[in-house]
Amino acid sequence: MKICKFLVLFATLLAVGRQVWYVAPVVAAPPTSAVTTNAAESTLTRKNRSADRRKKKPAMEKVVKTRAEWRELLSAEAFHVLREKGTERPFVNEYDHHFEPGSYSCAACGLVLFESDTKFNSGCGWPAFYAAKAEDHVKLSRDRSHGMIRTEVTCARCDSHLGHVFDEPNGTPTNQRYCINSVSIKFTPADEPQPHQHAARKVVTPEQDAAEPAPE
Ligand SMILES: [Zn+2]
Repeated sequence: MKICKFLVLFATLLAVGRQVWYVAPVVAAPPTSAVTTNAAESTLTRKNRSADRRKKKPAMEKVVKTRAEWRELLSAEAFHVLREKGTERPFVNEYDHHFEPGSYSCAACGLVLFESDTKFNSGCGWPAFYAAKAEDHVKLSRDRSHGMIRTEVTCARCDSHLGHVFDEPNGTPTNQRYCINSVSIKFTPADEPQPHQHAARKVVTPEQDAAEPAPE
């Protein structure tokens, strides 16, 4: 009889054990709906983060003008440097040895490009900065002109030529030196408001650009 009771008890324990064994993983696993919800939330979060990034960094509206408009707006030297990728003379330009507190904006469109606290005397003959005001305010591109391979710096908003950026290993806090034409930038003292910025226009048609009178 005792053996019989023992067998019944053993069988019962075994059955309960099996039940727990098979039920436990099901209970431990999160419900399918919860997985779906988490995945959906995750996708939503990614979308929100992406939207936040877009909100923080709106695409910069371009300033586009015809050659005739730029020529009218700029001095002959500024037009040559900014719009024809020219280079001004070294050492005798306006901002080479200018170290007042303030900011430097694009002489063509007014976008702030550099701050005085990143300007230094590099001895190269042109204003030198070790960083731009913001990475998206300048555009860098490979320049193979004059038998050299250099990195050209242009204004991200109006595509005007500013100068070149060079590697300066251990020479500056960023290991870079922006060598910028004085005539490409305009200084605004720290205690003065930024100058007027030109209205943006998105496109110039070839017909508009061809409207410039032919050089005499
Ligand atoms: Zn510009």
